[in-house]
Amino acid sequence: SAEVIGASNLSGVRHVVLVLSGKGGVGKSTVAAQLALSLRHAGKKVGILDVDLCGPSIPRMFKAQDSDVHQCDSGWVPVFVDQEKSISLMSIGFLLEKPDDAVVWRGPKKNALIKQFVADVAWGELDFLIVDTPPGTSDEHISTVEALRPYRPLGAILVTTPQAVAVGDVRREVTFCKKTGLRVLGIVENMSGFVCPHCSECTNIFSKGGGEELAKYAGVPFLGSVPLDPQLSQSLEEGRDFIREFPKSSAFPALAHIAQQV
Ligand code: ADP
Repeated sequence: SAEVIGASNLSGVRHVVLVLSGKGGVGKSTVAAQLALSLRHAGKKVGILDVDLCGPSIPRMFKAQDSDVHQCDSGWVPVFVDQEKSISLMSIGFLLEKPDDAVVWRGPKKNALIKQFVADVAWGELDFLIVDTPPGTSDEHISTVEALRPYRPLGAILVTTPQAVAVGDVRREVTFCKKTGLRVLGIVENMSGFVCPHCSECTNIFSKGGGEELAKYAGVPFLGSVPLDPQLSQSLEEGRDFIREFPKSSAFPALAHIAQQV
């Protein structure tokens, strides 16, 4: 049965980390991708499971949008994005006929696919499986948590921007984590200030510090902030290896110590 296959497919996975955000556009997928890169930089093997069925952006970020997934005896073979085979991906993006096709499905069909994604991907040995989720807390999140929970204790990273609205959204995420028994590994404040590439002065385009305040309020760790960085978005748009190109990535300090958090 799917359950038996799933147990063996996740048996080589050490840690599962869900990346959550209260709303879209705050950089959840960017942080998920950056987290994978920084963990790889620390010598870890990482898989990314993209369960953002309606807006899968992980394949494009890794320049893998034209890849197909294949079946093997133990399930779907994930897509490897580097020669060392240290990062592998699974996303609905690989299953769509055209990368820009929209998924217009009702809940039960989405939930069935999520269960399959959790059970049927032959990840092999992974230090971390990072799960990129849709924005908010929807049915898909509940399905994902329920499908993963029997196999591994789960941690969550919450991504927010500094503004009050996004922070309020994250407050709901914290509640969701408490209710579903997800351990909050910490909060990352993304788009936190802009460092001018010409004069290096940091301008706080949005107010700063909301993520840290919220972390204090909710009693969860604050992992750090990632400034708005034109090179980061450009590099991800083009699917380049940001960490390798810019070893002092602005995203790096906030994400690098997650490996030690779990
Ligand atoms: P979400 O997954 O929350 O919807 P994305 O990760 O897709 O958000 O990010 C939305 C857009 O913002 C993307 O174009 C991405 O390149 C850009 N972006 C995210 N974080 C940063 C950052 N720290 N600096 C610059 N651009 C960023």
